[in-house]
Amino acid sequence: MLPRTDETASCLAEYASQGPRYTSYPPATEFGPLSADRVSQELRRIGRANEPVSLYVHVPFCKSLCAYCGCNVIPTRDENRGVAYTDQLATEMTLVAGHLLAAKVVEIALGGGSPNFLAPRTLRTLMGSIERYFAVAPDARRSIELDPRRTTSSQIETLGDLHFTSISLGVQDFAENVQDAIRRHQSVIQTRWLVERCRAAGIEDVNIDMVYGLPLQTEASFTTTLDAVIDLAPDRVALFGYAHLPDKLPHQRLVEKAGRVLDRFERASLLLLAIERFTKAGYLHLGLDHFARPGSALAIAAAEQRMARTFQGYVEHRADNVIGIGTSAISSTSRMFWQNHTLLPQWEAAIDARHLPVRRGFILDRDDRVRRELIERLMCDGTVDLTALGRRYDVDTETYFAGELHNLTALGELAAYDRVNHQITTTPMGKLLVRNVCMVFDRYFNAGTERPQFSSTI
Ligand code: SF4
Repeated sequence: MLPRTDETASCLAEYASQGPRYTSYPPATEFGPLSADRVSQELRRIGRANEPVSLYVHVPFCKSLCAYCGCNVIPTRDENRGVAYTDQLATEMTLVAGHLLAAKVVEIALGGGSPNFLAPRTLRTLMGSIERYFAVAPDARRSIELDPRRTTSSQIETLGDLHFTSISLGVQDFAENVQDAIRRHQSVIQTRWLVERCRAAGIEDVNIDMVYGLPLQTEASFTTTLDAVIDLAPDRVALFGYAHLPDKLPHQRLVEKAGRVLDRFERASLLLLAIERFTKAGYLHLGLDHFARPGSALAIAAAEQRMARTFQGYVEHRADNVIGIGTSAISSTSRMFWQNHTLLPQWEAAIDARHLPVRRGFILDRDDRVRRELIERLMCDGTVDLTALGRRYDVDTETYFAGELHNLTALGELAAYDRVNHQITTTPMGKLLVRNVCMVFDRYFNAGTERPQFSSTI
């Protein structure tokens, strides 16, 4: 483990830059025009091949907008909008399921926004539609994101009845002044109640999301938050660096008004503090920013180098095909990505016209597929075997990536290439800046003259 010193934090801050999070390769910023017909073809291919599918359903509504939020959210207090939206989700499901035939759904994930914006009865309707239109495997894993400020007892009972086994809940920070700055107030008591009730309802896997880099966070206040989170005994924790992109997300100006957004040195110091605290409490530090209890599904997957990276972060399992339903949802297969309309009226219009609501996408060529696997393995395992990769894609990887391997030497403190074993491996410092290492292999990032706005890599 890296020593938690000012020198380490300075070094991390110096190497850090701005770049993609690599929840996909290529990143969604590269998506372009793609026809609904091309998506239909791909869905039919999956159906004919009878390949397994993970289903992701996006619920965009939240009762209020948190000032730091980077998700595709529609703030509203009108619960009827959830009912109407669920009806339209069912229509989208019929459009998708017609192509997928008997392809097995092995995983169902509800994300948002806040899926618990939906009342218990609407949640049952939604899950009923999924069961009706898709061939759901009896042991399909079911997970949901919950907003602890708005989750009710009857919702938790409903989740238990519907066989959800995994929840992800946002904490971000428990300090009151930080919560004022981000306009999201949530107590430890409220959060503990939710964790305990979910466990009592049979939900075994509890993930907590936290954020570092927010205004007014200090080492002392963050230590208190970390200790409170550790006390809740989650199975895993995802600790994200705050992505402050006010030009893209104007509501984040409210965050700036409340206090100075932390600089890279301060961010690095908080990250090192969190690593120290979680590892001392017995958690394993996995991938870039996840922590898991030893013996948990994610920790086992990491040890067996099976962990995957998706738009939801690190997961222990991902089917080759993730099919997204709902506004802004992204689908990914071995050959392509596509994203639904991000604006609700456009998505609704496509559904009303009985068209797949495709907004944009990306078809992967062989080069994309090789780089996609290389980047995913670096992000998940911190190491990649170029010989094995080359064998899978019939490529002499050492020659193919000669330029990139040369450029890697400039990142000597972050990664090394073992020419005997043909292995790229990140250093302990490179593990925290693995996005910078991946950027070396990102054809689009390196070709771009006008780069889109990305968040800080630390
Ligand atoms: S609850 Fe989550 S998704 Fe909703 S506004 Fe807050 S941060 Fe965004």
